[in-house]
Amino acid sequence: SETVLDAEVLVLGGGPGGYGAAFRAADLGKQVVLVEREPVLGGVCLNVGCIPSKALLHTALVIHEADEMAEHGISFGKPVLDLDKIRASKEGVTKTLNGGLSALAKQRKVTVVHGVGQFASANSLTVQGEAGTTVVNFQQAIIAAGSQPTKIPSFPNDDPRLWDSTGALALSQIPNKLLIVGGGIIGLEMATVYHAFGSQISVVELMDQIIPGCDKDLVTPLFRRIKKQYQNIWLETRVTAIEALPEGLKVSFEGKGAPESELFDAVLVAVGRRPNGKLVGAELAGVEVNEQGFITVDKQQRTNVPHIFAIGDIVGNPMLAHKAVHEGKVAAEVIAGHKASFDALTIPSVAYTDPEIAWMGLTENQAKQQGIDYDKAAFPWAASGRSLSMGRKEGITKILCEKDTGRILGAGMVGPNAGELIAEAVLALEMGADAEDISLTIHPHPTLSETFAFAAEMITGTITDLY
Ligand code: FAD
Repeated sequence: SETVLDAEVLVLGGGPGGYGAAFRAADLGKQVVLVEREPVLGGVCLNVGCIPSKALLHTALVIHEADEMAEHGISFGKPVLDLDKIRASKEGVTKTLNGGLSALAKQRKVTVVHGVGQFASANSLTVQGEAGTTVVNFQQAIIAAGSQPTKIPSFPNDDPRLWDSTGALALSQIPNKLLIVGGGIIGLEMATVYHAFGSQISVVELMDQIIPGCDKDLVTPLFRRIKKQYQNIWLETRVTAIEALPEGLKVSFEGKGAPESELFDAVLVAVGRRPNGKLVGAELAGVEVNEQGFITVDKQQRTNVPHIFAIGDIVGNPMLAHKAVHEGKVAAEVIAGHKASFDALTIPSVAYTDPEIAWMGLTENQAKQQGIDYDKAAFPWAASGRSLSMGRKEGITKILCEKDTGRILGAGMVGPNAGELIAEAVLALEMGADAEDISLTIHPHPTLSETFAFAAEMITGTITDLY
């Protein structure tokens, strides 16, 4: 059976970019059709990304904190894991939010069509779903088809012991020995989870530091902590082959300090994500997709075809949900005739590891590379009463300000809750605050948020020594 729908705005992909754009367009009076191949809305972020990983990380954090309470005089027994319950609790969070999104779509009279969408022309899309074929004729479209984990073709990708992030989040078992290939944010978050659940963790990273792209001084406190917890962290090391044997996955290495080969019970490959640009039939709509699968857009999220827009992971890095959402709003507003454009000064990054690392604006590495004259302060959380009360002293709040004007250029934090704290720095940057503005803002005491003001005071000179 074939159904034909007419849409003022078609949105392809129901992730954070897509549902955000669909809802905004509907709120602005457009009649919207949203196409999603999965049976639920929410995309990677809600179903196999941000949210399930954070649910598991919360559990992991509680396990670690309970363990560390021994130093404060309270000892708990060894945690007893009920994997089915842990999984159910994680899925409960996801289901609640899935349900919320469906309700929000209904309220706005957004028509959701489930099935795989492919462009048939510059004004129509064909959807193949369980209910048959739907043709959506549209006036304007927003492509929000996201990305998927990068696979390494020579690895035994069909072996159930070789995981991508989705496989790791499925929590099918707790392997004794788990290798994480790729020391980026996703790999290290999963390492945090499985370490808490009892796996022996090894991490292998090609570059000379974990979380490449973040300043080394911010990564060091995390590195020091996990170096003690994990079995191995091999830097400047490449995995050359993985062989599936009955007794385990035999992984061969090439690089600094790593063995020639070692057996693991499971391997998580977290080496990046690939945009889905080549999978939506873009050529039939005349939309250009580059070699890697990204769709190029302008500041209004417009592709080379003026009535077709693209947002989220499919248009480029950083592949983050909050970037996708922001771009989705811009696209919807432009379609509704508003003068919107994407001009965020920064897109913050957060690793929800323990400790968390968060940064925004210019990194110190970038400031150096670009020859920018900056003042820098790094406030040690060892001098924060709140951090010490939490039994943690490894944190740092770093701030970079322009030499002449004192204007904030960038900031980074490492320590518990750094991901929450970075939002203030983002606001400061967007508002054009200088170090004095920040230092004159009264922060509640005792909080971790104070460390941001203290770092600013180190720049203005009102803190000269750390009592
Ligand atoms: P997606 O979320 O990928 O959504 C695209 C949707 O399009 C999918 O639902 C897909 O099924 C659908 N689709 C694709 N092709 C078709 C088609 N042809 N027809 C119909 N439907 C189609 N980001 C953060 O900001 N914070 C985090 O903490 C975070 N943690 C993460 C943890 C993990 C393990 C992973 C994998 C990612 C994480 N991310 C995080 C990244 C985040 O998930 C993505 O940046 C975000 O989901 C991108 O949103 P999107 O709307 O562009 O695409």
